[in-house]
Amino acid sequence: MSAAALAQFGTKHVAKGIGRLATEVIESGSGSYVTMVGGRRMLDFTCGIGVANLGHCHPAVTKAAQSQIGKLVHGQINIAFQKPYLELIESLLPLMPHPSLDTFFFWNSGAEAVEAAVKLARHATRKQNIIVMQGSYHGRTFGTMAMTRSKTIYGDGYAPLMPGVFSVPFPYCAQCSVAAASGGTHSFDNCCMDPVLQLELLLKRESSPADTAAIFIEPVLGEGGYVPPPPQYLAKVREICDKNGILLVADEVQSGFGRTGKMFAIEHWGVRPDILIMAKGIANGLPLSGIVSRKELMDMQKPGSMGGTYAGNAVSCAAGVAVAKAFQEERILENVAARGHELRGMLEGCQADPKTGSIIYDVRGLGLMLALECKPGGGYASKIQAKCMERDMLVLTTSIYDTIRFIPPLNITKEDMAKGCQIIKEAIAEVAA
Ligand code: PMP
Repeated sequence: MSAAALAQFGTKHVAKGIGRLATEVIESGSGSYVTMVGGRRMLDFTCGIGVANLGHCHPAVTKAAQSQIGKLVHGQINIAFQKPYLELIESLLPLMPHPSLDTFFFWNSGAEAVEAAVKLARHATRKQNIIVMQGSYHGRTFGTMAMTRSKTIYGDGYAPLMPGVFSVPFPYCAQCSVAAASGGTHSFDNCCMDPVLQLELLLKRESSPADTAAIFIEPVLGEGGYVPPPPQYLAKVREICDKNGILLVADEVQSGFGRTGKMFAIEHWGVRPDILIMAKGIANGLPLSGIVSRKELMDMQKPGSMGGTYAGNAVSCAAGVAVAKAFQEERILENVAARGHELRGMLEGCQADPKTGSIIYDVRGLGLMLALECKPGGGYASKIQAKCMERDMLVLTTSIYDTIRFIPPLNITKEDMAKGCQIIKEAIAEVAA
């Protein structure tokens, strides 16, 4: 079938509920590029939404998966331990943001892992309610749809969803009116106090600490616009959790595995989560997710109450082991810092230039989890995205605000980053003209 015929076939037979950026069909991926049927090669600054973080078909990950597939594909963790599952834990233990995080449960997708964390939090605390952040994304299952507060589209028409979910604002420095009034200075007092106050009020007015099991938080809002919190915010949330016997759950599905320049984003603020949720980058594209917590909490769950047919698939776990090894051997975090600096510098340059700055509202993010928020009203983000596509480059928009997020591979070369920066710069200039 030709590329056009394949796309037509897909449009006819694939569920419409799945939104799609491009009409073309991907045939293969290698490093920072994907190749479409018909031969069009595109620079991929999406990484399949932050999954193929070590580039498409990373050789060592591919080799590990290929070797495992010949040994054991499916072990079924409810029947017996399987070797790659345990090897993955061994590889992940030294990477955890806190030594108390020592007991693991692996699943397939991010949403399943979020639900596993809800189960653990409810069971361990014997409390029901969950607090989430406005702007957060946790998935598309019934439990996680209830927790997702980034766009109404995710829950529209699917109610009733899981009950017992409350939400509070996440500090959004760029749009903080208090900061704006004080000349744009972001400090704890002017940026965090309101969201912290809202959280304290929620615990007094709507969801008492006696009924609240956990606060779920993405340390950097993902689908909500790549928004890092101001410095003291997460520590303050930790304090509130400790004071009220509430668990702090970090959803690092998008921000984890090096994306922000640390192995896990929460390390930027030195805050200990009670439960950490991982997925996406964990196996560089093979379906795998997991939660980690302290043994004392995990061991409260009754044997048999957790698990699933495909949970912690052996091939995915073997790929995960190779990912963890690559992080060390290939000094990935150093590359994130260097390439992140270059990308950010280019974006800030566009913001400072009066010609392009006229459409830019904010440049933000950490490491290679960077975003460009455009001024409202012009639909600029989608226009810039389209101009990048014309130049054979994939980028994604995010959030209800007019924002583009940049998710390049963490091991992208200096040359490919320079090429990507040039394309983005041209696209912004063309839209601003
Ligand atoms: N949590 C976060 C922070 C996410 O970004 C996502 C996916 N975008 C999920 C959970 C859900 O993961 P999945 O799509 O694998 O179910």
